[in-house]
Amino acid sequence: FHDAGEVADEAELAIEGALRPHSLDEFVGQQKVRGQLKLLLDAARIQGRPADHILLSGPPGLGKTTLAMIVAHESERPLRLSSGPAIQHAGDLAALLSSLTPGEVLFIDEIHRMARSAEEMLYLAMEDFRIDIMVGKGAGATSIPLELAPFTLVGATTRSGLLPNPLRDRFGFTAHLEYYESEELERVVARSALVLGVQVPSIARDEIARRSRGTPRIANRLLRRVRDYALVHGEGSAASAGDVHAALDLYDVDRIGLDRLDRAVLEALVRKFRGGPVGLSTLAVAVGEEPETVESVVEPYLVRIGFMGRTPRGRIAMPEAYQHLGLPQATGSPL
Ligand code: ATP
Repeated sequence: FHDAGEVADEAELAIEGALRPHSLDEFVGQQKVRGQLKLLLDAARIQGRPADHILLSGPPGLGKTTLAMIVAHESERPLRLSSGPAIQHAGDLAALLSSLTPGEVLFIDEIHRMARSAEEMLYLAMEDFRIDIMVGKGAGATSIPLELAPFTLVGATTRSGLLPNPLRDRFGFTAHLEYYESEELERVVARSALVLGVQVPSIARDEIARRSRGTPRIANRLLRRVRDYALVHGEGSAASAGDVHAALDLYDVDRIGLDRLDRAVLEALVRKFRGGPVGLSTLAVAVGEEPETVESVVEPYLVRIGFMGRTPRGRIAMPEAYQHLGLPQATGSPL
């Protein structure tokens, strides 16, 4: 159920699309960000200009892509989707920017992974809607200025700390998305259950919400697995609390929503490294994952629920982690 590196099949992606809210009013939670975005979009609408550039940061699955789609939808502008890894040269970005129509919303996911040369081109594009295209090489190289249609850039990143300041400063609005409260996730599940045509009693919705790691995408996935379970073993279109327990146990989602990778990281930290402190890359190697996945997907949630601490000397396990794993706290642990 982890997001990074997981390849969802096309049918799952299509369902995910169907479950996306289309307006700020339908978007559950993140009340502050919603209010701020609404003001930004309303002001742009009154002045008949594209909205300021928007940077969204936060762990995967909290709604960054959904918000970019909502920005385009609410401002009645077309949306172009791209991502940092797809922009490996300044030329890739030049081609993208010069093909935008006036007012178009350009979404760049994982913007921190864009090539450095493209980043520099983006500064000018964001500020002046202009780029300089280099023609030729060496002493004879010249740059040709190219006017762009005004656009709104929506950048998304799981790691805003990796963005260079000049890029970050050029966004008119920056929002950090927080993990959702259970009550908010319950509303996400209720809405998605309606879309999927499955009846889920409130006690079962509550259970899914509690086991979704504060993340709407996970809530929606768990709901789909519960629906499958009810279809195969239960009463078809109505899922019971028992179906929720059975389905989530089957998929190794524990009672507070930690999945296999979360638990592997915690166990490595507690057992192999005696509670830490241990460096990120050492910890990542111990669980066979990329450091980036551990840092941007696993850690934020473990830190948020008070299971892990980040110190200048490395990651440490907190007492709650030992309790959850049912292990005694190591003597000589850093705490
Ligand atoms: P990533 O960075 O991994 O692409 P993301 O932050 O862009 O993740 P989205 O793709 O926007 O996340 O959201 C994942 C799913 O969760 C969507 O299908 C959407 O239906 C649902 N979702 C996210 N946020 C909300 C919300 N606030 N209300 C209702 N559904 C939401």
